[in-house]
Amino acid sequence: MLQNIRVVLVNTSHPGNIGGAARAMKNMGVSRLVLVAPRDFPSVEAVARAAGAVDILDGARIVSTLEEALEGCSLVLGTSARDRHIPWPLLDPRECATTCMEQIDQGCEVALVFGREDSGLTNDELQRCHFHVHIPSDPEFSSLNLATAVQVLTYEVRMAWLAAQGQPTKMAKLETHAEQSSLPVTADELERFYTHLESTLVQIGFHDPDNPRHLMPRLRRLYGRSNISKLEMNILRGILTETQKVARGEVYKRRDN
Ligand code: SAH
Repeated sequence: MLQNIRVVLVNTSHPGNIGGAARAMKNMGVSRLVLVAPRDFPSVEAVARAAGAVDILDGARIVSTLEEALEGCSLVLGTSARDRHIPWPLLDPRECATTCMEQIDQGCEVALVFGREDSGLTNDELQRCHFHVHIPSDPEFSSLNLATAVQVLTYEVRMAWLAAQGQPTKMAKLETHAEQSSLPVTADELERFYTHLESTLVQIGFHDPDNPRHLMPRLRRLYGRSNISKLEMNILRGILTETQKVARGEVYKRRDN
């Protein structure tokens, strides 16, 4: 599906930015790069900045006009760092990504068009686009580096694509780890904790079973609200065990030795 998305770089001056854009694209699984009259390409600097994404550079199509670059596209999205005072349908990167998904879902071709480092896209070029896309940067310093702008847009495209595929956006390894430690504590584990807590509070003189003042029900209500995980329960039990050791004077004895 992401095969239907092409990144179009218009008249790029610095080959390093072409390499940076290629790397950004490959990171996000977008592979089709079209270069409209690049000023200095192919180049060693582009290869250096592409890191391992040389295949994207090697597969790049070089054309002389934007018109050729947009051939076959039913959706053209033109990026712009500033308001050109031409009223035009405007999307933020997230909306841009979902609009892309709607199109590629139907098998259509989409172009994300990026302008020159010094002057962006011309008004004529912007008028060839169905939508303009602006990354909501600080208006006082709104222009991103070209490859960085490619990264932001392709990242949003990837997030929308993963969501459309029903694929997770979190790394599997982290999830497995989170799954084990974040399992909720069971009722019996909670009961053992309350017993441990009560005996500790008695031991340190905070709780008097002959004058309980609803302390334990209040603490039960507090911990009951907390949706405690197994990992968190281990921490709480560890604190109680250490507290009991201090209360028995064991820790001080150990330190004295
Ligand atoms: N001085 C130029 C800035 C060009 S930056 C201008 O005023 O237009 C080079 C390219 O990076 C832009 O043409 C656009 O494709 C992209 N870009 C940079 N900042 C952006 C932003 N905030 N939103 C969308 N695209 C941006």
